[in-house]
Amino acid sequence: MSNYKELYEQLLKEYGDYKNFSERNYQMAMEKIIKLEKSLDAMVNIIEVSKYINSYLGDENLIPMINDMILGILGVSYSSIYIKEEDTIEIRATNKSTKYCYYVSEEKLRALENHEPFIINSESAIYESEDGSGEIHSLIGVPIHLRDKFIGYFIVEHTLWNFFSDEHIKFITSIANQIAIALENNFLYNKVRESSIKDPLMGIFNRRYFFDRVSNIIKTEKDKKFAVVMMDMDYFKKVNDIYGHPFGDEVLKQIAELVHDSIDINDIVARYGGEELVIYLDRVETFSAVYEKIEEIRRKISLKDIEYGGQTKRNTASFGISFYPEDGKNLEEILGCADDMLYKAKEMGRNIVVSSRR
Ligand code: GH3
Ligand code: MG
Ligand code: MG
Repeated sequence: MSNYKELYEQLLKEYGDYKNFSERNYQMAMEKIIKLEKSLDAMVNIIEVSKYINSYLGDENLIPMINDMILGILGVSYSSIYIKEEDTIEIRATNKSTKYCYYVSEEKLRALENHEPFIINSESAIYESEDGSGEIHSLIGVPIHLRDKFIGYFIVEHTLWNFFSDEHIKFITSIANQIAIALENNFLYNKVRESSIKDPLMGIFNRRYFFDRVSNIIKTEKDKKFAVVMMDMDYFKKVNDIYGHPFGDEVLKQIAELVHDSIDINDIVARYGGEELVIYLDRVETFSAVYEKIEEIRRKISLKDIEYGGQTKRNTASFGISFYPEDGKNLEEILGCADDMLYKAKEMGRNIVVSSRR
């Protein structure tokens, strides 16, 4: 009889052990599945972010948008992206008031520069945020590198203690790599775009850009009034002949800069061809005010000493002004009229401004 009891107890114990064992295995398998699902989620998120980054080339809001995605995906309290600009590090995106941003110490900055992210977990508040939105108890800093160049970092914060793990760092690091590539792509994109609309010698817009912009203004802004100025350097063949072509180039560069610096933000100056410039003046209060503005530019040019390669020379230019809509119904007609006025200025002896209306 006691044999049966012993056997029964032994079987019961074995059954219990086996049950525990299989439950533990089941638990472990479940944990693995959850972990895998999390990794899969993270991967899907990274793919989504990278798809997004690649489809918004040239968009200046890209970094704020990535910051918003991090906030949404990680469910953190705050996220900020800092990008290096020449010598300083500027905040380029954050959902905090910039007054309450985390200050990275020199030591931490050096770590970030050396590709080392950091995690801070603290039972007491990490720093005084003072904005009443809750104290920060977890914080991570993740560097952004483009190849080996340090270009910035992320600061991601949470009000909960022990919120961040290595998984978060891994995730943000992969986003950081995407940001680095996006910034480089943006930079290249802007460079290509700039070279397609700017004149390389004069550093001002090219003729095609001028036509596109002004035609668009005529098309989209009803009742718009503006002035167009054609400008041509006087006796420029002689300048090249006497002082040399490189000197002539320098004259054109400096004169273009002078004109550019003399007009308003909404005005447009472009190289029309050779040593001819064309200016769009956005504001026409009176015909004579436009005349005076151009007369002032003419005067400044005539007084500017251009120095280059040990030679110095003053130069002059002639100007023709016309007005939209008074002098024509489209840009071609307005330019034609300004050109006629320029021709008159040349005929009258050069270094003169001639306007179609006074
Ligand atoms: P005018 O007073 O009648 O305008 O006389 P001009 O000699 O300036 O005559 P025109 O405007 O017809 O000649 C333009 C000259 O400008 C021809 C060319 O040698 C020179 N030129 C055009 N583009 C450039 C340039 O990019 N660099 C240099 N150095 N010279 C240029
Ligand atoms: Mg000329
Ligand atoms: Mg010319």
